Amino acid sequence: MGPTSYSIVHRVSVPEPHTHIVHVETTLSARDPLPDSVVLFMPVWTPGSYLVRDYARHVEGLAAVEPSRATKIRKNAWRIDVAGAARVAVRYRVYAADLSVRTSHVDETHAFLVLAALLLGVEGSEHLGARVEIAGPPGWRAATSLQPAPGGPDDAATHRFDAPSFDALVDAPVELGTHREERFDALGKPHRYSIWPADSIAEPDVRRLVDDTRTIIETEARLFGDALPYDAYELLFHVSPRGRGGLEHRASAALVVSPTAFGARESYLDALSLVAHEVFHAWNVKRIRPAGLTPYRYGEECYTRLLWWFEGATSYYDWRVLMLARLCSIDEYLGHLAGEIAYLDQTPGRLVHSLEDASFDAWIKLYRPDEHSANSSVSYYRKGEVVCALLDIELRARTGGTASLDKVLAHLWEAHGVAERPVPEDGMQAILERVAGVPFGDLFDAWIRSAVEVDYARSLAHVGLAIERSARADGPPCSLGLRVRADAGRAVVASVWRDSAAWRAGIAAGDEIVAVGGTRIEGTNVEAPLSARSPGDEVDVTIARDGRLLAKRATLDAPRQDRVKIAADRDASPAARQAFAAWLGEPHPAWTSRDRTPT
Ligand SMILES: [Zn+2]
Repeated sequence: MGPTSYSIVHRVSVPEPHTHIVHVETTLSARDPLPDSVVLFMPVWTPGSYLVRDYARHVEGLAAVEPSRATKIRKNAWRIDVAGAARVAVRYRVYAADLSVRTSHVDETHAFLVLAALLLGVEGSEHLGARVEIAGPPGWRAATSLQPAPGGPDDAATHRFDAPSFDALVDAPVELGTHREERFDALGKPHRYSIWPADSIAEPDVRRLVDDTRTIIETEARLFGDALPYDAYELLFHVSPRGRGGLEHRASAALVVSPTAFGARESYLDALSLVAHEVFHAWNVKRIRPAGLTPYRYGEECYTRLLWWFEGATSYYDWRVLMLARLCSIDEYLGHLAGEIAYLDQTPGRLVHSLEDASFDAWIKLYRPDEHSANSSVSYYRKGEVVCALLDIELRARTGGTASLDKVLAHLWEAHGVAERPVPEDGMQAILERVAGVPFGDLFDAWIRSAVEVDYARSLAHVGLAIERSARADGPPCSLGLRVRADAGRAVVASVWRDSAAWRAGIAAGDEIVAVGGTRIEGTNVEAPLSARSPGDEVDVTIARDGRLLAKRATLDAPRQDRVKIAADRDASPAARQAFAAWLGEPHPAWTSRDRTPT
């Protein structure tokens, strides 16, 4: 008998949740003696979040049950000397106090368990299934997309699940606690929200969230042949002031939103787009997968040049789906798209880093931002979204309306998703061209493979839209080109835009701005002394750096045109109006922003 006859059981318990400590015991057993040694490992990252997080740094006290011995051989791996036994067990503890969608968090109220950050795999036997037994405090329930083990729980506090492989095991986070459960069906399949803390969302907001989520899921399914790719789906939903985030899994999503998400309309639409985003990934990235991420290698970076598609298209569709489902208005949709273009306008790194390179560099750039990031790189989410919107418009324009990105999705699903045949790293252009029957090399060269300016206006004109840029109405008439943050009441430079007045003058992130044009800066208001100046004026800027005062001389720029509007062109041709209606499903709004009556 080979090693395929192991049975693997992970026993997880949280006897003292207030200490944030999780106890794990992993047992390997076989009918015949095990090999002389096995290597157990913990992933260094989790799929969907492309950063080496070294989860093993939170492991403590790992030891094997005698007579076996555990020896640490790498930062995240242990060799277990089996000593002829047919059964070995290791015990360890994991500190879990980081509330995010890709880290575990345990406290008096719940245990959110990210299994990639908690459980060990057996090197070389990742194809093997495992059982997980989770013992929580009395009264705590469990929500996860793992399959319940046959036979049901031994007692009310122990929850047993089976995973058919290590991939499946670590693709299913577990919410354990006294969260609120909301079950609903979509297209005949069961879905469940697990909302923590249980009382964090008001009753009418829960109803609205559930109804809108059902609509989102049905709208997404329509794009992929009207069927859901899973049997059941779990939405593990955390409400926390620590911010916004989501992580996709094959049959679940972990989501965190701010308590203000159910207040202003804009915040609510943002939360809905997050839900739409993570569920969309059930198709796009979890089943339609890039070759570079296949198979997952948990001990190292997995490189792909396709995150611009897998995150960018998912970002395009997370709002497109709100539009198609009438959950947002045309104005709201175009306002969102304009915001993404404004972000790109304010990101000099768009001219440095291509979408393909940004995808490849996710591990060292997007997830590790610093004060220079905006100057040297671009988000494959946000540029990817804009480029996918423009590709959709161009697909329609170049084929007289017969092709679209929706059709590309349907093709991807049939050709790559259903059978989970990975998308080749250089395959997206050919896929678009196959669907459209016309070449797209020019746009892939310009928008995806190189870092040149994208001509948004040219593509938007195909659907009767125009771009309008303006400076902030309440801003000064000139600009230094830097952003400041408050540090003990002082104005400290957070970032400097590449090639701006401050950049040319040698002002850098970390410098304190003491005076501009001889006027002492009050608080963080570095703009006040600029109100009487003009572009081209030279001003003295006094900065403090490393305890020394320095004088810099800056030549002021014109104010930044950081307000972007996408306006409907009143003179749009009938063909453009028709293309608009085909794209967004509603008639072309024959207005320009100049016409709009302010309300
Ligand atoms: Zn995503």
